[in-house]
Amino acid sequence: MHPRDLSAHTAYEAGRGVEEVARELGLDPDELVKLSSNENPHGPSPDATEAIHDVADSVHVYPKSSHTDLVEALARKWGVAPRQVWLANGGDGALDYLARALLDPGEAVLVSDPGFAYYAMSARYHHGRVNEYPLSKADGFAQTAESVLDAYDSERIVYLTSPHNPTGSEISLDTVLEIAARTDEGTLVLVDEAYGEFTDAPSAVRLTEGRDGTGDDGGIDTNTASHDGGNGDAPTAERDDVAVLRTFSKAYGIAGLRLGYAIVPEGWAEAYLRVNTPFAASEVACRAGLAALSDTAHVERSVESARWAREYMHEHIDARTCESGGNFVLCEVENAADVAASLRERGIIVRDCSSFGLPECIRITCGTREGTRRAVGTLNDLLGDR
Ligand SMILES: *Cc1c(COP(=O)(O)O)cnc(C)c1O
Repeated sequence: MHPRDLSAHTAYEAGRGVEEVARELGLDPDELVKLSSNENPHGPSPDATEAIHDVADSVHVYPKSSHTDLVEALARKWGVAPRQVWLANGGDGALDYLARALLDPGEAVLVSDPGFAYYAMSARYHHGRVNEYPLSKADGFAQTAESVLDAYDSERIVYLTSPHNPTGSEISLDTVLEIAARTDEGTLVLVDEAYGEFTDAPSAVRLTEGRDGTGDDGGIDTNTASHDGGNGDAPTAERDDVAVLRTFSKAYGIAGLRLGYAIVPEGWAEAYLRVNTPFAASEVACRAGLAALSDTAHVERSVESARWAREYMHEHIDARTCESGGNFVLCEVENAADVAASLRERGIIVRDCSSFGLPECIRITCGTREGTRRAVGTLNDLLGDR
């Protein structure tokens, strides 16, 4: 007895948690600054924490009404029908649902290199093949229509990431529209907006069929009270081949609960009922998600803090950094593995991007003011010593 041939699958190894690193270094976990997983350094909304406590007595029931309530709240937020909200066990779970719903065995998907590993993993779990389009460091990892279309070969799903992980680069809605228009009718363009709250750019939800125009634009406007942040000129469309991925793991600060969703075109939204794992978004996750969604002050504070930190890193790190729309900054060093290891010894955990195919880059998550200043100071000391 053997599992099927899994040799094309890459084994995923999560970065080590604070406790593990602290134990290894003989340090108190509180002395460590963990800036390696793009988590919210301010923690969850206090309302979410309260909701988690409140739900403790009722976790003997399957998540039913909480799931409905959260889907309805998200549908209202985006101005779409509730069936267009594919709630899942993390954004990763929503990626699985899309692969399940779209891929016939042997069909291919197109992903960026460098890029988010789970697109390819999920496609392979669902018996798909994986092709890549390159993003070039020389162009600042610009995501142009050409970079995607030159590599495009009628794949079933094209994954775009904006802001992009790990580079921070963004894609304009015009570019998304151009890619959707110039790819086959049967190709889904999925825009992964896991970091959508941290950018001023409008969400690609405005390109998806079924939106009624009442929803918001997904960014968190920390400057003005206006809803669309001045995006009145951004394109809108009614495409049945553009879907959007969002998550509660980043700006909303509940990564540990695993909650995310896709917004899909109205025409095939019903497929959810045929592909979703029953009750995959847990009762605790749904209740906390509802509370987190309502606590706009916490999200605004988190986004404002991330914007401060990424500016601070651009200005103060003594090395080249990429322009970022996310809650992290990619930074060019000579040897990422060495630098990450030396930083870790000094209590700063960052992401060595070798596994992204970028052995000369580290990715630093936006921390609190104190954490960010300490990380930048430590990094600069280290770079100065070389
Ligand atoms: C974090 C992330 C996700 C989703 O993560 P979940 O924790 O599964 O919601 C999706 N795409 C990108 C690019 C990410 O960085």
